[in-house]
Amino acid sequence: MSLLESKLRPEDAVFDQVVLAGDGFTHVVKKGQTCRIVDMEGNQAADTLFYDAHDPSNRYSAVDTVREQGNIYLTTGTKLLSTEGDVLMTIVADTCGRHDTLGGACAAESNQVRYAIDKKYMHACRDTFLLVAACCTKDLSKRDITANVNFFMNVPVTPQGKLTFEDGVSGPGRYVELQAERDVRVLISNCPQLNNPCNGYNPTPIRVLIWDGGAG
Ligand SMILES: [Zn+2]
Repeated sequence: MSLLESKLRPEDAVFDQVVLAGDGFTHVVKKGQTCRIVDMEGNQAADTLFYDAHDPSNRYSAVDTVREQGNIYLTTGTKLLSTEGDVLMTIVADTCGRHDTLGGACAAESNQVRYAIDKKYMHACRDTFLLVAACCTKDLSKRDITANVNFFMNVPVTPQGKLTFEDGVSGPGRYVELQAERDVRVLISNCPQLNNPCNGYNPTPIRVLIWDGGAG
């Protein structure tokens, strides 16, 4: 755990949007800007993908990020690496302390396998990613929806090497802040999952703020 508060003030933000429970979001964060994602009510999971805004095939790579930092959890100091080895974002503040990038995004398929056949038709992050990619971007499609970050989600690995979904380590108002190292498209599914404790069985809103520059 590595907790670090930010000095940036919400009233100075150039962008401020609430993303309701279960909704999707996308926006390009320009190089040098800082993006904060706030878990407004606590215990929410924000499934997030990152792309080089000018070349979406150069996208977030969970494998490279984990290998290069030698840690399976993301927190302050983590550099989010791309498939080409570029740094897309750096986590510069974090009041939650741990974020997952192993568990993946929920999908109709995983809902069936993990919970029950009749859960197939419940809302899932993969559907939200596909919907937002189709309606709000010109250059993202199904092939671009790959291994993601789950902000505010706690997925510890057991000594036997299994993943377990634990209740969130987050709480109301906790946030993670990322500085863009190049122009980066951020794609978020504010997770609608109701079958595991990642959202405390009650999905809630998140808030996205962006500042020009950093805390300095
Ligand atoms: Zn989800």
